Amino acid sequence: MEPLIINGNETAAAIRAEMAKEVAEMKAKGVEPGLGFVLVGDNPASQAYVRMKKKACAEVGITGYDYELPKETTQEELLKLVDELNHDPKIDGFIVQLPLPKHISEEAIIAATDPKKDVDCFHPINVGKLCIGDTDGFFPCTPYGVVVLLQRAGIEVKGKHVVIVGRSNIVGKPLANLLVQKRDGANATVTICHTGTKDIPSITRQGDIVVAAIGRPNTITADMVKEGAVVVDVGVNRVEDPSAKRGYRLVGDVDYENVAPKCSAITPVPGGVGPMTIAMLLMNGLKAAKRRMPK
Ligand code: NAP
Repeated sequence: MEPLIINGNETAAAIRAEMAKEVAEMKAKGVEPGLGFVLVGDNPASQAYVRMKKKACAEVGITGYDYELPKETTQEELLKLVDELNHDPKIDGFIVQLPLPKHISEEAIIAATDPKKDVDCFHPINVGKLCIGDTDGFFPCTPYGVVVLLQRAGIEVKGKHVVIVGRSNIVGKPLANLLVQKRDGANATVTICHTGTKDIPSITRQGDIVVAAIGRPNTITADMVKEGAVVVDVGVNRVEDPSAKRGYRLVGDVDYENVAPKCSAITPVPGGVGPMTIAMLLMNGLKAAKRRMPK
């Protein structure tokens, strides 16, 4: 049977359209959601990410505020800006695009961010809330995107064995924390694999749902996945391709061509998890702005 190809572009567009309606209603009640985008230096990938985030904001009606600083900016100067944003009432949430130049401590900047405006969910308070199942904080954008993508594709995670390959602080670990909670849209049995795991294929083959968050092409191969599994590919890797417009193309961590025929559902790269990440950032921005809504 052909697998269901889970379309992240369509799902993210549907979510943006729903959010646009909500934003219009909020504006009618005098609340104008605003997100700040702090970019230090001229890293082209970071510039591209910020552009995409601001474009999505504009589509939904959230006002994006730009803070572009030169790469020589000191940690003290950036901390001062973070403090201003923490206290600026028009800013419901803000992101400081990572990576930062080496002379600035990312931990210090994250720690200085007001947890109520930490829409990336990097602050230890929000990470802690995530771990204890407190839904009052934010959910981290990419893992949240995976959960919502599965939900909207009609894939129940409750009672399923989800095997996540990768334990980073931005994808693998927070995704495990989201899925393991005792609540609707979660309640899964979760296993995390990493480079210290022995015999990963014997574990991934037990997965009803296998999530790849590794950062290496073709790491999940057909022999690692059981018949009928759902496969979610978070990986985004550049591989050289002289025939492609930019000389490279983007692939995930999964050997898609050979894995897809075994699956009941699979996310492609590009067009799977990727578009969901920004949609979830906006969702967090709205959540923050709703705190300003008249009761
Ligand atoms: P990361 O910080 O480099 O973490 C990669 C994880 O994979 C680590 O835990 C590492 O294990 C594990 N790993 C690496 N090689 C492995 C192998 N051969 N077998 C088992 N585990 C292995 O990467 P990340 O930030 O989580 O990102 C992962 C991928 O997702 C990247 O391709 C990234 O570009 C992509 N990504 C996409 C989005 C999106 O919006 N779609 C967002 C974030 C990331 P150790 O801990 O043992 O080293």
